[in-house]
Amino acid sequence: MAGKDRSPVTVIGLGLMGQALASAFVGAGHPTTVWNRTADKAAGLVSQGATVAASPEDAVAAADLVVVCVSDNDVLHTVLDPVTDTLKGRVVANLTSGSSDQARENAAWADERGFSYLDAAIMTVPAGVGAADSVVFYAGPKDAYDKHSATLALLGGGSTHLGEDHALAALYDVALLGVMWGTLNSFLQGAALLSKADVKAAEFLPWATKWVDAVKLFATDYAGQIDAGDGAYPANDATMEVHFGALQHLVHESEAQGVNAELPHFVKSLMERTIAKGFAQNSYASMIELFRTPEK
Ligand code: NAP
Repeated sequence: MAGKDRSPVTVIGLGLMGQALASAFVGAGHPTTVWNRTADKAAGLVSQGATVAASPEDAVAAADLVVVCVSDNDVLHTVLDPVTDTLKGRVVANLTSGSSDQARENAAWADERGFSYLDAAIMTVPAGVGAADSVVFYAGPKDAYDKHSATLALLGGGSTHLGEDHALAALYDVALLGVMWGTLNSFLQGAALLSKADVKAAEFLPWATKWVDAVKLFATDYAGQIDAGDGAYPANDATMEVHFGALQHLVHESEAQGVNAELPHFVKSLMERTIAKGFAQNSYASMIELFRTPEK
């Protein structure tokens, strides 16, 4: 049911994610216009109250806020390049995954054509769209974000504007995915190791998650040390030397128990290189020195 006080929204791209986005707007009472290359994907949304546009141009003309969620950046340009005259003065929020370079190029493309561009990264799956703790990152002009922040917040209660630099959404996206894979890989390696002593992954799980809480405390101290920028990295909890000794136990146990030891060996090589740079008596945060530069 469209509400009189709700601003119109257009959604271009009705794949799995685009349908979830459009559904969140329709469900909150926004007059919602949708367009998709394959028109029949709009059927469910139409039954909820959305309007199907006959063309991308008609879709863009229907709202000040144009949300785009297609496969990739090339598709975005295939659909929007022919309609940039109609986009003039509007706000495009691009929820298509892309790189930070593409975000900055798209910002320049929009600027030259007289419309506002917000680059976005959705940190959830379609079923999570609209949940109170789901996050969508936005980067780009703050005034454009502020104008539509209440509408955009419908896509995830934890959504936020990261800053005016259009690169930020894509960069936060991959940085967080890295945290996810790093944590999951270590959990899986630990589960493999413990399986050799007949410990189920479900038995390991509560201890692993409790340990992640401890790691949060370490990371809080390390963030301050990194941002201090003085290269001091005080070993408030343990020195690199102590970390290295413990890591060698993980390498040894992995090999002795006959599980894959590639990950522990990789971490060992990173620690060795950091210690060789002179950080044996510093905190684990000194590893940032290695991560800041391309590998040799
Ligand atoms: P999807 O289901 O494969 O949908 C792709 C969309 O792109 C469809 O609307 C498709 O139209 C359209 N498209 C593809 N090629 C096109 C072309 N040449 N011209 C016009 N439209 C074209 O993908 P999705 O899961 O919705 O993902 C969409 C974006 O969201 C991706 O960038 C993805 O990385 C990102 N994302 C997805 C998730 C997720 O969990 N699904 C999470 C975070 C981010 P047709 O229907 O006509 O094929």
